[in-house]
Amino acid sequence: LRNLVLVLGDQLNADSAAFDGFDRDADGVWMAEVCHESEHVWTHKARIVMFLAAMRHFRNALEDRGLRVLYRELPATGKDSIETFSDALEQTLAELECSKLVVVDPGEWRVRQELKDAAERLGVALEFRADRHFLSTPEQFAEHAEGRKQLRMEYFYREIRRRHNVLMKDGKPVGGKWNFDHDNRKSYGKQGPDPHPPKAFPPDAVTAGVIKLVNRRFAEHPGDMDAFDWPVTPEHAAHALKDFIKNRLPRFGDYQDAMWTGEPFLNHSLLSAAMNLKLINPAQVVQAAVDAYQDGSAPLNCVEGFVRQILGWREYVRGVYWLHMPGYLERNELGADRPLPDFYWTGETEMACLRDAIGQTLTYGYAHHTQRLMVTGLHALLVGVDPREVHKWYLAVYVDAVEWVELPNTLGMSQFADGGVMASKPYAASGKYIDRMSNYCQSCRFAPAKATGDDACPFTTLYWDFLDRNRERLEENQRMKLQVKNLDRKTDEELASIREAAARLR
Ligand code: FAD
Ligand code: SF4
Repeated sequence: LRNLVLVLGDQLNADSAAFDGFDRDADGVWMAEVCHESEHVWTHKARIVMFLAAMRHFRNALEDRGLRVLYRELPATGKDSIETFSDALEQTLAELECSKLVVVDPGEWRVRQELKDAAERLGVALEFRADRHFLSTPEQFAEHAEGRKQLRMEYFYREIRRRHNVLMKDGKPVGGKWNFDHDNRKSYGKQGPDPHPPKAFPPDAVTAGVIKLVNRRFAEHPGDMDAFDWPVTPEHAAHALKDFIKNRLPRFGDYQDAMWTGEPFLNHSLLSAAMNLKLINPAQVVQAAVDAYQDGSAPLNCVEGFVRQILGWREYVRGVYWLHMPGYLERNELGADRPLPDFYWTGETEMACLRDAIGQTLTYGYAHHTQRLMVTGLHALLVGVDPREVHKWYLAVYVDAVEWVELPNTLGMSQFADGGVMASKPYAASGKYIDRMSNYCQSCRFAPAKATGDDACPFTTLYWDFLDRNRERLEENQRMKLQVKNLDRKTDEELASIREAAARLR
């Protein structure tokens, strides 16, 4: 072969740079299922199925177009002698000659290193090609970051909106402001939500085959396969987008932070996994939302709120990841060292909010942003769980988990372990925040406003303890000063009993 094009599990777009100049007669495609990718963190079955099913569908589509694909399937049972990409690549190159390996920049620092090392060891040339799936590049982000003391998503987002002319008119943001966050913090109140259920994609024969394999090979892994109906092809993803734009976008913004017991999806798009695996292009997703605003089917606060997640947050976290890796993985600004509570793997806890958020995570491999940030993430922050443990959990349990997006969100935004690169202050809150944004507390045995006593809400106890334990460091932060100052209103006895209760919880 001339070129062997390596396609990783999150690179399933046939218009990627890896296929530029592809010659059917001279080139081939290589894809491999290897167990290490599902085992280096204790991966949820739905995440494994998501990747493998999407990969197999992609292989089939390439073969239908007449491309030569060398595809390694995982054996259904037994010890696998091939554990990693480099093992699999070594086996292929022992049987086949090729003059060059071509791959799009991987989304994970570790994988990039592994491929580089393997190519060197095997004595074959390796060409990395730029990832065109995003709306900005790591180089643009580095340029943006240069000379800035403090990075802020907002400013990078504005740059991208201008560059791509999204929701802009005569050089100004449509609607006269960049940000409608103020309108987007509603809770569902007493009446509760009336969500339109997302379109389901029940497993076809290919996906059913993968589910069988995963149930056998990864039987001990967390997760439930009965509910698997994620989009695993570009056609599915396009359908899912249409369904979201029509049925949930018109109320996405207003309720984007709200939570409700037994309602896992609410007004969210559920497009993260499809975008992260590149089944659908983010520019297409953004355009569909902008079109909905222009034809009057969705209001500006909802459309801007949604566009901001993709053009803003998604691009920003990727920039942070590549600017700060590999050192980022080691950051632990608050010196957190507790183990992750066992109930993160079972959902068995008396805390109703955590029970619901973890329960749906284990069932669907999904929780929406506020559940990840202000329930599971917040609890780990307040307890002081070792950020690497928290990172491993988030990387394991969500169908959309890929390190470039998961790590800055977890270690940076939710655990403040990067000391403020991602967020200007820790997302620390008490049970009262959860009470305001959900109905969880109504079915909980704890009282969200209470910090001590038998029915004290653990979030509230741990919140005051968090401020107390980290007082010196937090006082240096302008945006935390007021929150920390409230500690002074507690009497010495109150603080002593909070500390004692928190020590027990931690
Ligand atoms: P919607 O609410 O419909 O949002 C639309 C899209 O915006 C998402 O599909 C996603 O692509 C993008 N988006 C929204 N928020 C963010 C964000 N903070 N960072 C990057 N993109 C964002 N997202 C992942 O894709 N993979 C992860 O592994 C992941 N881990 C997370 C871990 C933690 C601790 C936190 C707080 C957030 C994490 N997120 C992650 C971000 C966000 O929670 C998910 O993208 C979102 O919940 C996916 O659901 P959705 O597609 O229904 O999103
Ligand atoms: Fe969660 Fe506390 Fe509310 Fe219970 S009372 S649901 S633990 S916030």
